[in-house]
Amino acid sequence: MPENNKIKKKDITDKIVSLCKRRGFIFQSSEIYGGLNGCYDYGPLGVELLRNVKEVWWKEMTFRENVEGIDASILMHPRVWEASGHVEHFSDPMVDCKECKARFRADQLEESDCGNKGYKGRKAVKCFEEGKFTEARNFNLMFKTFIGPLEESSSIVYLRPETAQGIYVNFNNVKESSRQKLPFGIAQLGKAFRNEINTKNFLYRTREFEQMEMQFFINPAEDLKWFEYWKEERMKWFIRMGMKKEKLRWHVHEKLAHYAKAAVDIEFEFPFGWGEIEGIHNRTDYDLMRHTEFSGKKLEYFDDVTKDRYIPYVIETSAGASRSFYAFLCNAYDEEEVEKENSDGTKSSEIRTVLRLHPLLAPVKAAVFPLVNRDGMQEIAVKITEDLRKKFKVFYDDSGAVGRRYRRQDECGTPFCITVDSETLYDDSVTIRERDSMKQERIHKDRLNEYLNSKLNDN
Ligand code: ATP
Repeated sequence: MPENNKIKKKDITDKIVSLCKRRGFIFQSSEIYGGLNGCYDYGPLGVELLRNVKEVWWKEMTFRENVEGIDASILMHPRVWEASGHVEHFSDPMVDCKECKARFRADQLEESDCGNKGYKGRKAVKCFEEGKFTEARNFNLMFKTFIGPLEESSSIVYLRPETAQGIYVNFNNVKESSRQKLPFGIAQLGKAFRNEINTKNFLYRTREFEQMEMQFFINPAEDLKWFEYWKEERMKWFIRMGMKKEKLRWHVHEKLAHYAKAAVDIEFEFPFGWGEIEGIHNRTDYDLMRHTEFSGKKLEYFDDVTKDRYIPYVIETSAGASRSFYAFLCNAYDEEEVEKENSDGTKSSEIRTVLRLHPLLAPVKAAVFPLVNRDGMQEIAVKITEDLRKKFKVFYDDSGAVGRRYRRQDECGTPFCITVDSETLYDDSVTIRERDSMKQERIHKDRLNEYLNSKLNDN
């Protein structure tokens, strides 16, 4: 983006939120009832983008010799969450303002705005200093529900707050059924739920979200090597998927969770500031040891070469699918001044909004247009659409000026627009326009499939 055309940071969030609604990426959950705080629905384009984020992650992580996938159930035995430490430790300190009744996480007062709209720009920490808050109380973030018809304490179950525990409890099952030898990993993606005290920054912190996690089981003597390996792998993946390098950074944890020996986050620069998108942790043998203790079942590894028997260490890579979705959107959002041809042949300039998403992530891979709706161009364009649709998500559009159709596709990140024009009628060639450069080339319509295939190969 040219320097003079930098979009103001504070405006970007509003623009992205409005684009998401207008073009069908994200809707408020139960919008017609006024919405449900911290929950969102993915619309027709959003669901494609989210599926693509998960798909590229799944391929990246499990199309390897030494990583297997699983899909564990969301409801698990309640003892799982005692063993994992979530019942005891998974809480945030909560405070209430006695004056405006707003509720805050006590450890986030510096970044939270005061709940009283009359005090514009005032941070909650100021109200704290003035003694307006209640004492901090610990609030467990797990959602509780009941299994079976009786709502009593013996039937309490939790909606999982992370997917990782479904992996640990299946360690023996996967090891034995897949005949994997250490080191090997188990990957899982799926929904997780946290009753966050404050949900904010759109999709960044929600109460229902999806995670993409992988637990890599290793010999404890090799923990440093594998920790470094997975750090590198994960950072490289975000960059390969189109993240701008300058928008990513490492955050090294100095204060470690009770189970961790080392922890780093990959942070992305969101419009509101830097925020974690993935954590890479050395969780030692904590989880397998705890589950051994609580279940009475040994979760260990026997090395048939060295004859050693031990509890493996775990290197975890833990990303949010929904949070990465938001980061990819912010990373891709751009506006630029372009030349526009008017109907009387004169030229003027306009701002185009473009989502520069990696083609693999783009919700729609190609749009097909007849230049004008006559001379059989529509029929040819419909036929091309139907052929491509066997393999790709494509969109047919014959309404409005072609320039307007390009803009509509730019805005939802479609990497290629194919136009059938009068030349097509003579030589079966079509124009194919690339979203970012707006460059057009002519190719034979029978080569479109091959063309898209080559562009959609992960590289
Ligand atoms: P935070 O400090 O932001 O609450 P965390 O350190 O508790 O996050 P983890 O438990 O490490 O997060 O979760 C792993 C990943 O899951 C995060 O990097 C993030 O991408 C995602 N995630 C966690 N909580 C949420 C949430 N409330 N909404 C959306 N994504 C989340």
